[in-house]
Amino acid sequence: MEQKQKTGRPAGSKTADREVVTFVSSRCRACDSTERTHYKEKNRVEGYGVAPDGKPYTAVNLRPTKCQTCGQCRIDREYEYVPETANPN
Ligand SMILES: [Zn+2]
Repeated sequence: MEQKQKTGRPAGSKTADREVVTFVSSRCRACDSTERTHYKEKNRVEGYGVAPDGKPYTAVNLRPTKCQTCGQCRIDREYEYVPETANPN
């Protein structure tokens, strides 16, 4: 008799109800490629403001990188937001 091996979560456990959040990778302006070299450094500038998506930010990260498709260098700007309630300090 052949028994199927059970995979996945155990019977009766709750299904995690996860929202899908879209993340758009930075692109090369020359060729539109999202392939890039790993970030080596991060220049973090703290400051409050409103990001291009209309949401607040508490810091901006500037990360030099290079397109792996065409070699174009660029700086990726990433907006960071940490609500005060999430920081017990
Ligand atoms: Zn490129």
